[in-house]
Amino acid sequence: MTKSAFVFRVLCSLNIFFIIIAVFPFYIPPVNVSAATGPAPVITDSSPPPSFSPDRPEQNSAVYLLPAMATDGADTDKPVYDPYTVTERKEKKLPAALPDVKPYYGVKTVYLTFDDGPDRYNTPLVLDILKKNGIKATFFVVGTQVEKSAPLLKRIYNEGHAIGNHSYNHIYRQLYRSPAAYMEQLRHNDQIIKRILGVRPRIARAPGGTVGSFTKQYWTLLKEEGYTDISWNVSSGDASRAKAADLVQNVIYQMQNKYLWSHAIVLMHDGPGHGETVKALPSIIKYFKDNGFEFKVVNLKTPPAW
Ligand SMILES: [Zn+2]
Repeated sequence: MTKSAFVFRVLCSLNIFFIIIAVFPFYIPPVNVSAATGPAPVITDSSPPPSFSPDRPEQNSAVYLLPAMATDGADTDKPVYDPYTVTERKEKKLPAALPDVKPYYGVKTVYLTFDDGPDRYNTPLVLDILKKNGIKATFFVVGTQVEKSAPLLKRIYNEGHAIGNHSYNHIYRQLYRSPAAYMEQLRHNDQIIKRILGVRPRIARAPGGTVGSFTKQYWTLLKEEGYTDISWNVSSGDASRAKAADLVQNVIYQMQNKYLWSHAIVLMHDGPGHGETVKALPSIIKYFKDNGFEFKVVNLKTPPAW
């Protein structure tokens, strides 16, 4: 480095230093976390990964782990997870097919589902609300979000909620390039989830829904690899810029359709930017509680949405 270049660098660093000193007194920390914008900070996880082997998965009595042969026994109300990935099942010649379980149609049953998380801001608030209400829900998580918030995925799992696969990156043009590309994203996300939890989901939800994106080949591959796709039949409408009160009304309006009462699957989002969903959630839960609904997690007993 020449002498003049060195002097220039020193002057530049001093400038940055003075700018920081000058600006700092005016910095006001954000007070409303749900209204915060911009990329969420990465939550660092200092705990070691679980020392996992499929024969000794992490203990969590709130969930049901599919046995290696997985031919029956999944008739449970708990969330269902698999200690084996698709590849491990193939290598060990274990069945990939899901056990045949009779769908459960209740008198009044609701499945609250949250897509696109986990998110640094919204997911902890959603989990707090669920805990306060003593109910469980289902989270369809995106791999790139999981990578940023591994401890939140653990919290969802440890608190007895169901986790579903919502692709690795949620980018439609990559995801729906081909059936193989879609399956590759599911497997990739599974690997990330399994590294954190020691188990992986068997339920998945196609970003944007399957209509218009899936061809017959997608359904064939999903079945071959043993995933079950979970759609929804009630939309909170929170993919738009609607306010919390509108989200509550959207749900109540659609619930006038009594066909849905036996298995209402409600679509919401806990991903980045969904503060209005967090605000609406207590009222949505209250509506279902006041009307005597039971809250269930999505598992192999959950009927098809339509
Ligand atoms: Zn989504």
